[in-house]
Amino acid sequence: YLCGKKKATDLAHMVWKHVVQKGDTVLDATCGNGFDTLAMLNLVADDSRKGYVYALDIQKDALDNTSILLEESLNPDEVRTENKYKVFSALRQLVKLVNICHSKMEEVVPRNALVRLVGFNLGYLPGGKKEIITRPETTFLALEAAERILMPGGLISIVVYVGHPGGREELEAVETFAARMPVENWICCKLRMVNRPCAPVPIFLFRR
Ligand code: SAM
Repeated sequence: YLCGKKKATDLAHMVWKHVVQKGDTVLDATCGNGFDTLAMLNLVADDSRKGYVYALDIQKDALDNTSILLEESLNPDEVRTENKYKVFSALRQLVKLVNICHSKMEEVVPRNALVRLVGFNLGYLPGGKKEIITRPETTFLALEAAERILMPGGLISIVVYVGHPGGREELEAVETFAARMPVENWICCKLRMVNRPCAPVPIFLFRR
C-alpha cells in the first residue's frame, strides 16, 4: 500500500474491510460526495438485504451528490428492467441520508443499534463551498457521540486533512480525543507520512 499511489481514504476503506461484516450497521459522519457511503454499503449489504448505513452531512448539496452517486453506481445500466430496479431500490433502502451535524448522530441512530463503524472524512466538500468545513469543536463532540454508540469490536475511522487553514487545529483536537481513550478498551493509532507533512492523516480508534 505505502509504495502505491493510493489515497488516505483507500487506506481507510482497506481497514474497514477487516472490521465490518455483512449485515452490520455503520455510520458515515461526513458523507460529502458519497464515496465513503458507497464503500460502506458494499461492505454491509448482504443477500438478505440486511445491514444499514446512516449517512450524515451538514450540507443538503452533499446529500444530493451522495444520492446521485448511489443511483449511478447501484443502477448503472441504460436498460433498467423491473427486476434490476427492485435490486437497486432494495439496496438504496439500506442507506438513510440525514441533513444534520454529526455531533447529533445520536438523534439519528436508534438507541439499541449496534454500530460497527463510524467514519469521518473531515474538511470541506470537494467541488463545493470551502467555507463549509468541519470544525474542531463539533468534530470533538461528534467523536464523543461516536464513542457512545460504537459496539465492542467496532472502529472509529477518521481522515484528517492538514493542508487547509484550520486543518492542523482539527488534527490536534482528534489527537487529544484519541490520546485520552482508556487503554483497556481502545487501540488508537495514526498513520503519518513523514516525508509528506501535508498528506492527509488517517487515524483509527479500535474498540476491543
Ligand atoms: N466522505 C465524503 C466522500 O466520500 O465524498 C467526503 C467528505 S468531505 C471531505 C467533508 C464533508 O463534511 C463535507 O461534505 C461537509 O459538508 C461535511 N461537514 C462539515 N461539517 C459537518 C458537520 N458538522 N456535520 C456533518 N458533516 C459536516
